Amino acid sequence: MTVENRDPWTGEIRRHEKIDAAGIERALAAADAAFPAWVALGVDGRGAYLRKIAASLRARRESIATLMTQDMGKLRREALGEIEKSAAACEYYADNAARYLEDQVIPTEAAKSYVRYEPIGCVLAIMPWNFPIWQVFRFLAPGLMAGNVAVLKHATNVPQCADAIADVLAEAGVPAGVFAVLHIDNEQTAKVIGDPRIKAVTLTGSERAGRSVAATAGQHLKKCVMELGGSDPFVVLEDADLDRTVTMAVLSRYGNAGQTCIAAKRFIVVEAIADAFVERFAAAAARLQPGDPNADGTGIAPMARADLRDELHKQVQASIARGATPLLGCTPGQGATVYPASILDGVKPGMPAYHEELFGPVASIIRVRDEAEAIRVANDTAFGLGASVWTRDKARGDQVARQIAAGACFVNTIVRSDVRLPFGGTKTSGFGRELAEHGIHEFMNIKTVVVD
Ligand code: NAP
Repeated sequence: MTVENRDPWTGEIRRHEKIDAAGIERALAAADAAFPAWVALGVDGRGAYLRKIAASLRARRESIATLMTQDMGKLRREALGEIEKSAAACEYYADNAARYLEDQVIPTEAAKSYVRYEPIGCVLAIMPWNFPIWQVFRFLAPGLMAGNVAVLKHATNVPQCADAIADVLAEAGVPAGVFAVLHIDNEQTAKVIGDPRIKAVTLTGSERAGRSVAATAGQHLKKCVMELGGSDPFVVLEDADLDRTVTMAVLSRYGNAGQTCIAAKRFIVVEAIADAFVERFAAAAARLQPGDPNADGTGIAPMARADLRDELHKQVQASIARGATPLLGCTPGQGATVYPASILDGVKPGMPAYHEELFGPVASIIRVRDEAEAIRVANDTAFGLGASVWTRDKARGDQVARQIAAGACFVNTIVRSDVRLPFGGTKTSGFGRELAEHGIHEFMNIKTVVVD
């Protein structure tokens, strides 16, 4: 079957082929066959490949950035940053996996007792389009170092990025079968999850996809990690440093055209500072010019697809109909996928902008009386991915951070994934962790050995 994708900026149509059952069978058989030799290479052997992968990513950075821009409209400078981050993650795990995977001795009355980390086999990765290279390497770098092999079902609108990753691994000399791209639809994916050669599933994507994939994995009793949506609170207390807070608010909300799971989405601002914050935030956001993602001067990328922009605009219109004030933007721009940097003020319970994830460049301003109300509103959400708190008083920020139910809470800096720190959500933002030591252990048999 041929699938058509439209370049979000130029409108050019590109086609790619989905694979059939025979193609899936070949990939799964190859993965199964490759696994024992990949394990036998050991951490040092696998680490050498990871370093070659990093080198290949860097060598191909310009051409991969072009594919990212063509597939989903990312600004070129953001694409280059994402590729570098992915290369660095490969090197990080090449450097650190050995200590993460060491046997862990736990004294008991036995002569010897310890935990050993064993790879499990082939993991299916189902990935989204918004960070089409990083999301894959965030799973793949620790996964390969753990000794697992992998097959990737990437989002339908980023096929060129998926193939570029396969090319990078091939150029690095990674043995056949260790990694494969499956261009398949959701029905085929459900069958792949059930295949006995697939030992676990990791999904990064929407809550809707998470519910479906986790249910299928559950039916087959397969472990899964779910990295789902978020509506991160950005809590501005009255003693915040406004210069830095406004700069970081703009970066967090409008980077990647707002299509980031851990973007600040709900700006919960204490009344005493609200007018000053909103005025400066709106002025800074208004300077972001939408345009060609390849042009240096472009301030905000087009959205990835027209249907996503339309969906976002519906949420905006429904929020305005329920009383929100459109302070900036809030009207689709020129071209099929352009949406300008936008702000909705006066957001309150009952509005989509309060309860739902706005996966695009629209900030929701929620004004609150004080710190206590800010914490209550920050937690008044089904999501629990990230959160940030802005205050000159670090100890106060730390105390507030402890009271927000989220997988990560950052004080005076924006939520970002960092290979050294675990990443993941609570509530409907998902479960399981990626990155750091926690991420590499997710898809391993944590085996207890006791010698008496
Ligand atoms: P999506 O529509 O859920 O798609 C994500 C992936 O899941 C795609 O590969 C998609 O394939 C696949 N998929 C969707 N439904 C499926 C099903 N029933 N069975 C099997 N596979 C299925 O999400 P998206 O629009 O690409 O990404 C945006 C969402 O991802 C946002 O909610 C965002 O917050 C979240 N996200 C979370 C994180 C995190 O780390 N927590 C990171 C990035 C994004 P097709 O494209 O073929 O439908």
